[in-house]
Amino acid sequence: MCNFIKTELDGVFVVELLPVFDPRGGFERVYCKKEFLHAGLDADFVQINHSFNTRAGTFRGFHYQVPPASESKLIRCVVGKAYDVVVDLRAGSPTFLKWIGVELDDRKGRMIYIPEGCAHGFITLTDNTQLIYHHTGYYTPECEAGVSFLDPRIGVQLPREIAVISDKDRGFPALSSHFAGIDTGGTSKMKCRFCANELNYEFVDLVNAPPSNSFLTSAELMSPEVFYPLKLYFCEKCFLVQIDEHKKSNEIFSSDYLYFSSYSTSWLAHAKKYVERMIERFGFDRTSLVVEIASNDGYLLQYFKERAIPCVGIEPSAGTAKVAREKGIETVEVFFGKSTAVDFAKARRKADLIIGNNVLAHVPDINDFVGGIPLLLADRGIVTMEFPHLMQMVEQTQFDTIYHEHFSYLSFLTVSAIFARHGLAIFDVEELPTHGGSLRVFARHAKDESKPVSAAVERLLSRERSFGMNKITYYEGFQEKVVKIKLDLLRALIDARSAGKTTVGYGAAAKGNTLINYCGIKKDLLRYVVDASPHKQGRFLPGSHIPVVHEDNIRRTKPDYVLILPWNIRHEIVEQLGYIREWGGKFVVAIPQLTLI
Ligand SMILES: [Zn+2]
Repeated sequence: MCNFIKTELDGVFVVELLPVFDPRGGFERVYCKKEFLHAGLDADFVQINHSFNTRAGTFRGFHYQVPPASESKLIRCVVGKAYDVVVDLRAGSPTFLKWIGVELDDRKGRMIYIPEGCAHGFITLTDNTQLIYHHTGYYTPECEAGVSFLDPRIGVQLPREIAVISDKDRGFPALSSHFAGIDTGGTSKMKCRFCANELNYEFVDLVNAPPSNSFLTSAELMSPEVFYPLKLYFCEKCFLVQIDEHKKSNEIFSSDYLYFSSYSTSWLAHAKKYVERMIERFGFDRTSLVVEIASNDGYLLQYFKERAIPCVGIEPSAGTAKVAREKGIETVEVFFGKSTAVDFAKARRKADLIIGNNVLAHVPDINDFVGGIPLLLADRGIVTMEFPHLMQMVEQTQFDTIYHEHFSYLSFLTVSAIFARHGLAIFDVEELPTHGGSLRVFARHAKDESKPVSAAVERLLSRERSFGMNKITYYEGFQEKVVKIKLDLLRALIDARSAGKTTVGYGAAAKGNTLINYCGIKKDLLRYVVDASPHKQGRFLPGSHIPVVHEDNIRRTKPDYVLILPWNIRHEIVEQLGYIREWGGKFVVAIPQLTLI
C-alpha cells in the first residue's frame, strides 16, 4: 500500500511508501499497477535505471524527453539523501514553468512521480547517494533534451551549492522565450509540414485575419466576416517557418481569387528576362518541353511561346487558367503533386524545364509537391523555383508577407534539405530583389552529374549559417520587431489625422491587408486604397472595409500622405504618383521601418 500526495503541480505526486517492520527488518511494496491506476496514474514502466553519486552536492538535470519519446518517471532515493526538483514544461498547463522541490531519502520511504512533459533533476545532500528511476519510455537520444538549472524564467533554488556537474548538464540552454511547452496529448499539436516534428516554438502571432484576397462587395459589408487565426511556428529541427494549420483552407481559396500576374509591369519584365536567360544558358529550343507549375494567366510562358518553345501550364485556378488559354497557352487545371506528375509524364513526356515561381511557399503539402518534381523531370532536366527568402523577411521585418495562403517561409538551408529528401540537388542559386528579396534555385536530379554545383550554393549556405539560421535564437525577437512597426505606423497615422491631414493607401494586395488588419487600421485613418486592377476597384478590403478605388481619386482628393503598401515596388509607385508633390504630398512606407519619402 502507498499514499499518493498531490503537489502544486498537477499530476506530480509524492508517493509515500508504507513499510511493515518485524524482527527481520522491513518490507514495502514500491509499485503496484492497480494502486497506481486507482490514483489515476497509468504508468507502464519499460526501463529502470540506477544512479550512483559519489559526493554530496552532485547535480544532475534538468532532463526530459520530447515526444514521441516523452515519459513519466518514478524516482526513489535508496541510499543517502537528495533534493529532487520537477519543472512543469507542459503546453497549456496552469503551472507552466513552475517548479517544486522534494527531499527524498532512504529512510522516509518517499518517491516522486513525474508525468510526461516535466523536466527532472536533483542535487545530492549526502556522499554516496543512490537513486532508482522507473521510466515509462525508452531512452531515446534524439528526443533527449535539457534545460539550464540557471534558467531565470524558472528560478529554481537549490538547498546547497553544486559541487559536481557534468559538462553536458552545465551546457543546457535556458528555455527560449518562444518555447510554448511540450504537448502531452492534451492538445493536438501541429506537426512540421516537412519533417513531422512537433511544433513547439512560436515565430510570430498576428492573432487573426480574414482571407487576404477576399475583397468585399458593398452588399457583403452587411454580412458577418470570418477571421482565421494567423500564427507562425518554426520547427527546431529543420527550421521551416510555417503557418498554423487551419481546417477551412477551401473557403480561403475561393473561386473569387483575384490575383492576376499580368497586372504588374515589373513582374512581366522580370518574367521576360528570366526566359531569355534560361534559353541562353541552357539552350532550350523547339524540341524541349517547358512546364510551369502555378502558371497563373500565362504571364511567363507567353515568352517561351514567342520563341516557339513548347510549353504547358499547370494552374488550378479556373479564372486565371482561362485567361492563359485565351493567350494560346495550353493549361492543365489541376493542383501539382506526385499523382499529377505521374499522370502528366505518362500522358505526354517528361519536362526539360520545370518552373515554379512563388508556388513553393504556397503549397500546403510541401513533400507531395517537391516529391512530384523528380517524377516529371527528364533525366537531364532542370528545375527552377523562386520563393521569398526567409532571411530577408526576418532581417527586414517583412511580416506583411504572412497571410493564410502562404504556408511556408523558407531559408536556403531548409529548401536544400527538402529537395535532397526528394532526390533533387540544387546546383545554383541566385538572390533576386523580387518580393523584398527572393531566391531562385536551380535543381536537377541528384544523380545527374552533368551540371556541377556552383560555388554560390555553399556561399549562401554558409552565409545563412553565419546569420544563425540553423539556431533557435535566430527566430526569436521577430514578434517584438513587428510590434514596433505597428506602433510607429499607428502613431504616424493618428498624428496626421489629428493634424487634419489625410492619408490614403496604394496597392490593395495581400501584403497590405495583413498590415492593415494587424494594425487595426480603418478608413478613419486610411481613407481609401488605390489599386490598378479593375477587378478590385469598387470593392472593399476584407476586415478593415476600406474602399478600393481608381487612381483618379488621388488627383481629385489631393491627400497629404500616400501609404505605399507593396513596399517592394515603392520606386515604381513613387515615380508613377510623382504628381502628388505638386500639392506637397508625401509617400509613407511602413516596412522595414517607418519612412517618409
Ligand atoms: Zn521540421
